Amino acid sequence: MGKKTTHKFKAEVSQLLDILVHSLYTNKEIFLRELVSNASDALEKVRFKAQSDGADDIAPEIRISADPETKTVTITDTGIGMTRDELMRNIGTIAHSGTAELARLAEEGKESLDALIGRFGVGFYSVYMVADEVSVTTRSIEEDAKTMVWTSDGRTDYKLQELDDDRPHGTEIVVSLKEDLADQFTNEAHLKTIINKHSNFISFPILVGDKRVNTIQALWREPKFQITSEQYAEFYKFLTYDSEDPFDTLHTSVDAPVQFNALMFVPPSGDDPFGMGRENRGLDLYVRRVLIEKQNKNLLPEYLGFMKGVVDTEDLPLNISRETLQDNILMRKISSTLVKQVYNHLEKLSKDDADRYNEFWRIHGELFKAGYMDFLNKDKFGKLVRFNSSASDDAKGLTSFAEYISRAREEQKEIYYAYGPSREALGLSPHLEVFRKKGIEVLYLFEPIDEFVMDSLREFDGYTLVAAEHADVSKLDQFESLEKEEKPEALNEEQQSTLDKLIARFKDVLGESVTEVKASSRLSESPVCLANPDGQFTSSMDKIMRVMHK
Ligand code: ADP
Ligand code: MG
Repeated sequence: MGKKTTHKFKAEVSQLLDILVHSLYTNKEIFLRELVSNASDALEKVRFKAQSDGADDIAPEIRISADPETKTVTITDTGIGMTRDELMRNIGTIAHSGTAELARLAEEGKESLDALIGRFGVGFYSVYMVADEVSVTTRSIEEDAKTMVWTSDGRTDYKLQELDDDRPHGTEIVVSLKEDLADQFTNEAHLKTIINKHSNFISFPILVGDKRVNTIQALWREPKFQITSEQYAEFYKFLTYDSEDPFDTLHTSVDAPVQFNALMFVPPSGDDPFGMGRENRGLDLYVRRVLIEKQNKNLLPEYLGFMKGVVDTEDLPLNISRETLQDNILMRKISSTLVKQVYNHLEKLSKDDADRYNEFWRIHGELFKAGYMDFLNKDKFGKLVRFNSSASDDAKGLTSFAEYISRAREEQKEIYYAYGPSREALGLSPHLEVFRKKGIEVLYLFEPIDEFVMDSLREFDGYTLVAAEHADVSKLDQFESLEKEEKPEALNEEQQSTLDKLIARFKDVLGESVTEVKASSRLSESPVCLANPDGQFTSSMDKIMRVMHK
């Protein structure tokens, strides 16, 4: 056995350890996540090395055992191990540039420790949230490497000792638990729960008391062509607790401008998007198979909240905290790429199988419509919205702007729409009489949000979106009627004077409740209708505005 040497921590490290030891940080269980992912990294390195040097016959695995007697948890891996130098460099100094910053900020004491530790990653050192003492026994895969033992109580120094044994390469970390945490973290069932929560998708077997805990494959990391639709469905159900198969699956792997894998699903039914469902959205974010945040709310905008799934990136540090995620450039890049992919996927679906796309629309369209606020993707969004229309067979029918245009009159440069409570009501609306007479299609809007969609899009493919009730009727004159039209003869003097009197009477009776009463050529069957002054809100929009400004 070699002689024991004592080494001081770098200044920042001891400060940091001090912070951790005295922190009231509640999420102490993440120490296990950190140690397991380090073990996984170490196994990954062996796998990588084996590609050039050939594999050895040591099975890659991570073992976790607990002993209530000695109040210890032990994490063992058959990974790459560390040489004496590596041990000093990696465990004895600051692993992240962030840790020095953390120590400095903690010193200044402007923020609570809890918030600080949440904001900065701490990796290996997080073990001192639960430990009185830690020993790391490791043997590097390098030839002639000696087994090294590192021990520290996490205060000011650590001890190094060489061990003369012939164990295989790998690392064993013995965590001597703090008195008050010993019960909790020597309970195997509890350890399994923690592993399942944070480390379920680690690709190497994790064994707790000889039983494998992580059994679900990180499907998103596998090549697409190797995955069956049954596997996708199984994974979807595991992820969402849904009992049905997904409606659609979107699996991608991206290398630039940022590396990530994503496996997303369109569920077969929608959450109530404006009730409870609102919170139940977001993709699970993983960094190298380790769960960082469930249902992250920044990866996809709210209106794409129907998408369920997983994103895994190599490019973020494992220890990134939620606060940092929110304004992280990488996250923004991942997000904009994801949004693009969802759009492309939906557009492809709409082209390949319009019926299926319409089915999607019926399930998730209500939420998706809120995408009218996403100005960056306005053009793509415009291609994907659907409406019922006077040309549909029934209230379930859906049409796109492009389909409307394909049916439009040759000279027509506008797309007309009208809002109403139902298809029946719109079918009778006096505002639409002239459109019916001339056989000009009108999109039917049944939801208040539809009008916001029209208002923000304003046009599609050179066609202006126009509320039928505001349409310049003279523009419609150029179109021939479907039925033989009897041109009304010009009024004679007597008729004109009767009409003037009638209008005067109307004004008299209605007084201030209207701004204007005028004769119109818009109507052919109804004697009279209510209209808005041009350029104002449509009547339904007006109602909404009034409610909002109450
Ligand atoms: P990070 O994992 O982000 O690099 P950590 O503080 O978790 O930071 O770990 C610091 C370093 O210690 C790792 O990069 C690795 O080189 C080394 N290390 C930690 N645990 C192990 C292990 N089980 N096997 C081999 N090396 C390890
Ligand atoms: Mg780590």
